Amino acid sequence: MKSEIRHYDVTPRVLRADEEAVLTVRPLFGHVRFAAGKAYRVEHYLMDGPLPGNSSPCILDRQFKPGRDGMLRIRSRFPGEQEHCLRITSPKDGGPPIELRVYSLRPDLFARRPCKGDTHMHSSHSDGGESPAYVAAACRRIGLDFMAVTDHHRYAPSLEAIEAFAGVRHDLTMYPGEEVHPPDVPVHMINFGGRFSVNEQFRTARYKREVRTLAAALAGRLPPGVVPGHAAGCLWTLAKIREAGGLSVFCHPHWIHACTYNVAEALNDWLFQERPFDAFELIGGYWRSQLESNQLQSAWYTEQIARGRAVPVVGASDAHGCHNDLFGWYYTIAFAPCREKLLDSIRGGWSVAVEDLPGDTVRPRGAYRLVKYALFLSREILPLHDELCEEEGRLMMAHAGGDPQAGANLARLSGRCDQLYDRLWQGTNC
Ligand SMILES: [Zn+2]
Ligand SMILES: [Zn+2]
Repeated sequence: MKSEIRHYDVTPRVLRADEEAVLTVRPLFGHVRFAAGKAYRVEHYLMDGPLPGNSSPCILDRQFKPGRDGMLRIRSRFPGEQEHCLRITSPKDGGPPIELRVYSLRPDLFARRPCKGDTHMHSSHSDGGESPAYVAAACRRIGLDFMAVTDHHRYAPSLEAIEAFAGVRHDLTMYPGEEVHPPDVPVHMINFGGRFSVNEQFRTARYKREVRTLAAALAGRLPPGVVPGHAAGCLWTLAKIREAGGLSVFCHPHWIHACTYNVAEALNDWLFQERPFDAFELIGGYWRSQLESNQLQSAWYTEQIARGRAVPVVGASDAHGCHNDLFGWYYTIAFAPCREKLLDSIRGGWSVAVEDLPGDTVRPRGAYRLVKYALFLSREILPLHDELCEEEGRLMMAHAGGDPQAGANLARLSGRCDQLYDRLWQGTNC
């Protein structure tokens, strides 16, 4: 974590574009205190370069003195949607400048808050390592705001996770979910948030009848290499997930399994042409030795966009254990006006898929505008959010482990992430 975000409380940090604002810089500790009565030089740089008619990206260069309360108040204007760097130097002591970062947003993105989540992971009820309640608590501990247990063929474990925290006030949004495997279809799909299980429908005679009819209707109308039964199984399943109100996710086409990619190129291409799914798992849960699969998915996505086939994206760990490497390596940042609109926000393209491998730079992927903003958030704001989540996650874990005090302690922490964001976003009460 950058030392500046630990040492100075800067409010607000997310601002409305094209408005004037006063940034308050409060040193949190004695070793970074501003000297009383001393003038500090403040330069305001625009990350996206000079304004029209100017030659310098520096739009403010003047002296500010800290107030009697020790805080520096910097008034400036924040043009356009972009990151801003405020460079503070003390002309006298010659120390290195402090660089503080804030971001200004156009109204549509300003009205949304970031939510970190994982749309795909497993518990010990399929082939994962831990119980659903443990998985949920571990998710909060690593800074996630939303999640679902999505076991292979099984919906009940996701409900078990939710049930384990019934009656307890906590801020992790938990969805029902499942990884869906239609019979004789190689494609894996996620039912994220659906009100009923789609896997359970595969046992019914109705499923077999409807898919047979669909396959017969598709035969002869599909591109070469697309098996009608596979195409029909995907269409039926994805439509059923939508009927359940779930976010339908097309998973890991470039996962290398049994010597081949999980989804053949012809079928992959046809699915992108038809777009029967809500979101593409752009970043999937691959080990370091398998990262070429994510490279291929990224290249595939870029090419689809170039062909005019824009799709919403998610990133998912597909973790099969909370103490395995994959857990926390990949996630989604969704931008939603409120938690109730989270799935609709992903469906509307307001999300990025993130790779966050240990010891590596955070790499959000998706639309340029959102990636740029997500990079700022990952550096300047989310580390503060994640620390609050960690405390909550520890208490959720204690509750799952039977600690009778944990629920009451958890309730006392509830709302802290929202309060943090309320403070850091300019004059809002989302
Ligand atoms: Zn899978
Ligand atoms: Zn999976």
